[in-house]
Amino acid sequence: MANCCECYPQEISQQACPVCGTPGFKVKHVTVKSLVAGEKASKVKEVNYFLCPNKKCEIVYFSPDDKTYFLKTDLRVRVWLKDDGLDVPLCYCQEVTRKDILEALASGCPVDVKAVMECTGAGRGGNCLYRNPTGRCCHPALEEFIARQKESQRETEAAIGWGVSSGGK
Ligand SMILES: [Zn+2]
Repeated sequence: MANCCECYPQEISQQACPVCGTPGFKVKHVTVKSLVAGEKASKVKEVNYFLCPNKKCEIVYFSPDDKTYFLKTDLRVRVWLKDDGLDVPLCYCQEVTRKDILEALASGCPVDVKAVMECTGAGRGGNCLYRNPTGRCCHPALEEFIARQKESQRETEAAIGWGVSSGGK
């Protein structure tokens, strides 16, 4: 069975990002501590941190308590919420990127979350608190990405009138 991290939804806070004003998600300081790289890591304190979910904003974490913030460039990983790149991981524990998932689908893995987790090993890390920039399990990210692939497959089939998915009976 998948060894899942805390799979509860992101808690949206009243704390607005100091740059873009988007309400942040609460994240634990241990997550921030393990992902901020280099000299800036020493600035991470045991205070409340929030993640700015706005894709266009450069701020990843901010703390109104401490009046500190960390940018995308301060992190040792690329943040899936803020970066549509195919080489960005969705599952950080197993380092499964969007590209890995697309390759699995292209080589016959069914377009289904459970199947993709089996084909790629995604969602089995158990270390999300330290490795995923949201500090949460990657299942919602996987679900969203796979739902999008399913939708584009459905649209293609509808557009050309052919069944793309093989094995249909
Ligand atoms: Zn922001």
